[in-house]
Amino acid sequence: MASLFRSLVVALSATLVLAGCITTNGGSRENFAALPPEVASTRSERDVAAILARNSRNPSWTARAVRIAERLNASREWTGEFHKQETKWRVIAVNSRITNFQSFPGDIAKTGYHIILHGGLFSGANLGDAELAGVIGHAMVHEMLDDTRFAADSEATAEKPTLTASVRKGTASPEQKAALQSAAAGKLATVSYTEKMEIAADRHAMLLMAGAGYHPRAYITAWEKLGKSAEAMKTHPLSTRRWAEMRKNLQNAISTYDKAARLTAKPQQRQTRPVQRASQKPGAAAKPAPGAVAKPESAPAAVPAAKPQQGGTIDWGL
Ligand SMILES: [Zn+2]
Repeated sequence: MASLFRSLVVALSATLVLAGCITTNGGSRENFAALPPEVASTRSERDVAAILARNSRNPSWTARAVRIAERLNASREWTGEFHKQETKWRVIAVNSRITNFQSFPGDIAKTGYHIILHGGLFSGANLGDAELAGVIGHAMVHEMLDDTRFAADSEATAEKPTLTASVRKGTASPEQKAALQSAAAGKLATVSYTEKMEIAADRHAMLLMAGAGYHPRAYITAWEKLGKSAEAMKTHPLSTRRWAEMRKNLQNAISTYDKAARLTAKPQQRQTRPVQRASQKPGAAAKPAPGAVAKPESAPAAVPAAKPQQGGTIDWGL
């Protein structure tokens, strides 16, 4: 096991070096007709500013969410999920009554991707840390897959087929092109993700949370709670198929959770090859947070040793 652990450490180091050289700012899909990344990120900043103008920020919920997000972000290296993608996150919890969350595309050279957590997740649905990890992980995956931009693009182009056709053919005037871009950008804050997007976000998010030391069973309970929220069901609809896929993927995620716990527990018990906890940012994921379903003390502590600042940074959003 010790040698396996060493191999893993080496693999992680190699990946981190690689991650520093690669910039993947969305672009996982082609065929965008309407919404270029720069237009999407500019509009997203405006949308987030509008949300923050309407709702005060909640510093303690934000601090809790950022701590969880750090662990999830570091888990990308551990699990191999999106480990080559360069990321930067802006995570903010606000005092609204809505039980939902929103994610927005962003320029990682500037603010990064935005994740807004509405107050109903904390005060109404009362999500535990592991459940919040499921929700934040889900939002992260949507952005790493560029789902929000793609969904906004798809909704706008479906509403304006004639204009879209001329933009695709290259016969649209600059004004027409701008009109389509504007229509698509206007959808970013309210997109409904497709069932396919939701199923993919579930699968990846369950692995990310498992690798971060949160028991993936909490993913299911999180969505049982979100299922009672009309707002959440409008943007992230739950279908029978989605539930079935979630349950099917649960065992695989539990295996990842168990493996992460075993690999990180052994070296600590033997006091060999200590994991570099000192390399973490202060306060980032030092121990399992209250309410986390995570059982092994060592797993969450050791997993984020992958130096979050290399794979991506997280803004406190304050
Ligand atoms: Zn979703």
